[in-house]
Amino acid sequence: MSVRVGEHVAIPSGTVYPDLMGGTRSIMNTQHPTGQNVSSIGSGAHTKLERRVVQAAKAALEQQRFVTAIDVLMGVGWLSTPHVDQWRQRRTNYLERLVMASLGKISTAMHIFRSWAKARGLHPSETVYLSHTRDRHPLRFSKSGDPSIERAYRTHWVSPELSEAKRERLAEKQSRPTELVVILPLKEWTCTECSATGDLLFMEDGGPLCLRCADLDHLVFLAAGNAALTRRANKASTLSAVVMRFSRSRGRYERQGILVEEEALAHAEHECLADEEARQRRRLREAERRAGQDELFLEEFAEEFAREIKRLFPGCSLERAETIACRAAARGSDHVGRSAAGRALQPDAVTLAVVAAARHGDTAYDGLLMAGVPRPEARDRVRSDVQRVLDEWRSPRQGP
Ligand SMILES: [Zn+2]
Repeated sequence: MSVRVGEHVAIPSGTVYPDLMGGTRSIMNTQHPTGQNVSSIGSGAHTKLERRVVQAAKAALEQQRFVTAIDVLMGVGWLSTPHVDQWRQRRTNYLERLVMASLGKISTAMHIFRSWAKARGLHPSETVYLSHTRDRHPLRFSKSGDPSIERAYRTHWVSPELSEAKRERLAEKQSRPTELVVILPLKEWTCTECSATGDLLFMEDGGPLCLRCADLDHLVFLAAGNAALTRRANKASTLSAVVMRFSRSRGRYERQGILVEEEALAHAEHECLADEEARQRRRLREAERRAGQDELFLEEFAEEFAREIKRLFPGCSLERAETIACRAAARGSDHVGRSAAGRALQPDAVTLAVVAAARHGDTAYDGLLMAGVPRPEARDRVRSDVQRVLDEWRSPRQGP
């Protein structure tokens, strides 16, 4: 493969990509017999730079499955996050101005980068870079402003491993207008228009503006932390901005919260509250339904218990059987699960309940206890009476 300055190379996706960024060096990429792509540029004294560029590009590709010119410039250490932020906020005219290398060296590095990307079969994806300022101004990369150079800078290189759908989504996401950024400044500052100062500033055309001059002073601050509220407020707000503060220790801007319209925030809060209310109502309904089910269950249980009493003790009146069954159900109501109920309906368990009922209701037992007779003795003394009642109940009787 041989590529010269100014040539247009057809790339697999079918779009035509202007290959190089201009410049006057003669550049030649040769396919090495090993299959490895080697760029020999000018004197060929750039192997060290080539290694650094390729290393930076590989690292970015591995991390995000695409790689950009900015990734490479940052990866080789010529550009820092604060510089990119400065450019994004349009505090500088063009990006190359902040790159810590000569234009010649930048150009060489970019050639190496694109040769490598093509050799790797990465897909070019042109991306829109807009400023983080209110006017969303397209950002300029190069000193010359040459359209083909600008386009080369804007082009992201995407891993062919990503499906076409994923590549499309990625491209769409990267071209989406960026958020407005409001800065929580660390140093003292004054508004370039009205000389006032404040807690927040907005960068416009290279100078800080107070929120009033930036027409953002009607927005209210919502601190980061509640993701649902933030998402809803952002969505409901026609105008919004993200509030960033530079972290000296981490060397980057960090998100503090958002500025949104007050009505949007109120609306979002209302929605979140409604959610919470709805959740509470649902919980209440579920508790009621559970309670209702319990009631129904206990009723069924009592009926079955009464039937079982009548089966074992046909001489017992229905009324009495129901009273005994209701008490058994009530006693068990805290823990009468289905299995406990099953056990409670065993003939032995039913008999025990009937014995207890007879002892309390049809003998002097309770009176003896009240008179201070010890329980074992009281039980002994009523045992024959209990037995007599049970015998009576075991034999069928006339009528219910
Ligand atoms: Zn002002």
